[in-house]
Parts: sequence; C-alpha cells; structure tokens
Amino acid sequence: MVRYKETIEQSAEYLRLAIPLMSRQAVPFHPVSYCLWYEYVAGINPPLRAAIDEFIGRGQTLTNASAEELFRTYVAERDQRVAHHVATGFKKVMDDVSQDAASAGASAHRFGTTLARWTEEQEAASAVPSAEIDTLLSGTREMQEAITTLQARLDASQKEIEKLQQDVTRAREEALADELTGLMNRRGFEMTLASCLGDEASEGHGTCLLFADIDHFKRVNDTYGHLMGDKVLRAVAQILRANVKGKDTAARFGGEEFVVLLPDTRIDGALSVAEKIRSTIEGCRIRRTDTQQEMAQVTVSFGVASYCPGESAETFLARGDAALYAAKCKGRNCVTLATAS
Ligand code: GH3
Ligand code: MG
Ligand code: MG
Repeated sequence: MVRYKETIEQSAEYLRLAIPLMSRQAVPFHPVSYCLWYEYVAGINPPLRAAIDEFIGRGQTLTNASAEELFRTYVAERDQRVAHHVATGFKKVMDDVSQDAASAGASAHRFGTTLARWTEEQEAASAVPSAEIDTLLSGTREMQEAITTLQARLDASQKEIEKLQQDVTRAREEALADELTGLMNRRGFEMTLASCLGDEASEGHGTCLLFADIDHFKRVNDTYGHLMGDKVLRAVAQILRANVKGKDTAARFGGEEFVVLLPDTRIDGALSVAEKIRSTIEGCRIRRTDTQQEMAQVTVSFGVASYCPGESAETFLARGDAALYAAKCKGRNCVTLATAS
C-alpha cells in the first residue's frame, strides 16, 4: 500500500507550504516534524490535522516532545511505512532538482565555451570584441558560478536528507520496539500480523502463531523484586529471538506475554518450535545479579494456533490466547494446540 500518491510537483508544493508552518514551532526541521506538517498541508491525515489545530488553537507551540507524541499517535501507529515514504519522496524531489541543476550547469558551460571560442575567433580576425560581448561573457561566467554554488548546496542537502532518512527509519523502529527486551512491541506485531495475513490470503501458505506466558511471574517479582523480574523478561526474550529466524517474528505482547508469528509454517513445525523454546527456558538457570544465587526455575506456557483461511487477526489471536489458557489449566509449562475456528 502506497500512502503518498502525490506527484513530484505536488510534494514540492507541500514542502513549500510546510516550511513556514514548521518554522513557527519550537521544533527543529527534522523528519518527524516534517512528516507532521507534510501530512497536515497535504490534508491526508484528518485526525492528525484536528489534533494539531486543537493544539495550536489552545495557543500552544509544538515542542520536540509534543511533536514526537503526535508522530507516535497519528503517524507511526497508523502506518509504519509513512515516515519512510516521506523521506523517500523528499529525497526524490531533491534528486530531481539536483539533476536539473546539473544539466543547467552543463548547458551554461557549453554556452560559455562556444561564446569564448567565438570571441577568440573575432580577436584572431582582429575584430575588437564589443562591450556587449564582454558583458555577455561575464554574465555567463556569473551564471556558471551561481549554478556551481547551487549544485554544491544541493549536494550538501542531499547528504543531510540521507542522514534524515536514516533517522526516520530509526525513529520508526523505536516506535515499534519494546524498550525492555528489544523485541518488537504489540503495535509492531499487530502490523506484521496484518500484513502477513494479507499475503497469506493471496499466497495460501500456512501461518502459525505461538502465544507464550511466563508461569507464576508475579511470584518472581514478589520473591526477587521487579529488577530481577525484568531480567527474566529479557532472558526469555533472548531465547525467543534465538529460536526464530527468517520471516518469523517474536514480539512482546505485553507484561509477561510474548507472541511468535511463524509464516510458511505448518502446525507440526510450530508445535516443535514452541516445545524447543519451552524446554530451553525450563533448562535455564538465571542468577541474581547481586548475590549470584540461582533463582527458582522459570517456566513458560504456550498456546499454538494455525491460521484458518478467512478468519480475522482478532479471531486468530483469540484462539492462540484460548490455547494458552488451556495450557495454564493443564498445569503450566506445556504446549497446547488451539481448536480450529
Ligand atoms: P500465570 O502463571 O497464571 O500466568 O501467573 P502470573 O503470575 O504469571 O500472572 P499474573 O497475570 O497474575 O501476573 C503477571 C505479573 O507480571 C504481574 C505484573 O506485575 C508482572 N509484570 C508485567 N509487566 C512487567 C514488567 O515489565 N516487569 C516486571 N518485572 N513485571 C511485570
Ligand atoms: Mg499473563
Ligand atoms: Mg504469567
């Protein structure tokens, strides 16, 4: 899905409209603020526009923090690819302008050379160049210099844009990552799931889902404290990360719950991935950072669901969650298969 369908001319116009609006705020001209104002002037994000209007209506000025918040709420959450498209579009406009400047520079150079040669011929023929020709020559030189300066500025801008593009990519990844574990967060996971199910509808490959929940995690916190609880969450995340590959996605769904999406995977494959992760966690011993004392064993319960063609992401997730609940009821530290919808 392409979010930005504007032509180069339109996007250049939005750039012109956005700059004065951006400059009235207390936010530097970085891609996050540009993205807000681009969508604002382009009129393609009504909720964002309403939020900005309300903000300004209250007589407030956007700050870095409020711009970041608007970006997260109205842009990153809505479409993880948005910012990337903006930066790419921005760069494309700059590339085109730069190319135009380069070809204008080349034409000016050719014209200057022809004029100089013609002048030399006039001089060789002892025809005294007129004052008009002198003016023409110096005008051409000035034009060449101006174009050279412009090109240098455009080159610098392009480098800046490339850097901004990298910043946008990083900001987007941060918005979709879980801070504690470094895995994808729930928002990121839901986007990945939606796009995977979109592909699945057209390609018909098997997709499976693992729902994992740490057993009696409240006890871990109660016995060893929250910091150790966090250490356990990171250790579980690390084991999940180590056991998924390729197209697979492991994410922290919230609290002490994790999900793994396995595209192109049949149910027996998914069950064995879950079993492998379960037994690895069961076999791990985490030590307290301060005393080096071993913590009690940590275990995880799993629900595994195989996607039924046509079902919604919500139903798919709910079946995985129900299977997880069944694993808890069976006594925990086990893997349970979801019933088909
Ligand atoms: P069950 O086996 O039924 O899953 O029991 P449980 O104790 O794991 O489940 P419960 O839902 O009762 O408790 C989950 C606990 O996870 C409570 C909450 O304080 C803790 N928790 C959630 N997020 C975090 C976190 O980021 N860090 C830490 N340390 N604890 C968290
Ligand atoms: Mg839980
Ligand atoms: Mg739990």
